[in-house]
Amino acid sequence: MTWLVQPSLVNEPFSDPGLFIDFRFGRRALLFDLGDLKPLSPRQLLRVTHAFVSHTHMDHFAGFDQLLRVCLHRTTPLHLIGPAGFADRVEHKLKAYTLNLLDAESVDFIIVAAEFSGSGFDRVCEFRAREAFRRREMPAVHLSPGLLLDEEEFRVEGTVLDHGIPCLAFAFEEKLRVNVWREGLRRLGFPVGPWLREAKRAVRQGAPDHSQVCVREGLTVSLGDLKQYALRTARGQKIAYVVDLAYDEKNVEKVVALARDADQLFIEAPFLDVDANIAAERRHLTARQSGNIAKRARVSRFIPIHFSARYRDRADELTREAEEAFQMAEPAAGLIFKA
Ligand SMILES: [Zn+2]
Repeated sequence: MTWLVQPSLVNEPFSDPGLFIDFRFGRRALLFDLGDLKPLSPRQLLRVTHAFVSHTHMDHFAGFDQLLRVCLHRTTPLHLIGPAGFADRVEHKLKAYTLNLLDAESVDFIIVAAEFSGSGFDRVCEFRAREAFRRREMPAVHLSPGLLLDEEEFRVEGTVLDHGIPCLAFAFEEKLRVNVWREGLRRLGFPVGPWLREAKRAVRQGAPDHSQVCVREGLTVSLGDLKQYALRTARGQKIAYVVDLAYDEKNVEKVVALARDADQLFIEAPFLDVDANIAAERRHLTARQSGNIAKRARVSRFIPIHFSARYRDRADELTREAEEAFQMAEPAAGLIFKA
């Protein structure tokens, strides 16, 4: 089975956190967080349709400028999603520049900034290059609770965590993986081609087996035959990204629900557990807490990130502590917060 997307960390764990989610087909990408984006090429940044920003502390938002710089003459819009107050932060960023060269003749690059409250987008603002990025208030948008983006092949869900300020965590989930088995297709005597996209779509939408898929004019095949001989389906990939949160029961419950059964969980592990008091003061996790959460969410792969610079030479200790907690027998839920 081939994956719909390939996630990769933008930086090493002591640098700014960020996850680049690249689509294998279709020249498209998503970004979780906009910290230091230098390792990404302009070509990669140009593919970004949606950037999900956990919060606007500098290490999560300073890369906005680089993204804007690369995308300024793009014809397709850039969607930015962040917590309450986010649209104002985007506006301030845009206002920092002299934009007298933008006018009605410019390429109309559009930025849409949406503030997610947990239940929906309470505020949506649009900034158009042709209007020198003057802010336009748009109608609020409410999808189902927790839903940030819902497309044919995947969805992105989010939750609002407490980091002293609201901070968003995200989960990308492919709906259903439908892959073509070429040998089976060959035996059926059908060519590979764009028509397969329609077939995959029909499978994802749960169309009945007797429905007909058009291979080319005058030639159709039943969906049932395709499913039996040439298409393979499997549960889609789930990738969760969680940074900057206090270790309290409410946050943990939300993360466990968001990341449950994820194939990959990228989650902060900034402090060692001996420094749990500093972590608590700064509303961050320790590596052990991070491993506990990954364990409770029953994720397949746990990737601790966002290490504090104070452990610059002790990365292995953070990783070991996180991994030990992840591998440990699951603690009873009620016991976790007593220590
Ligand atoms: Zn941070």
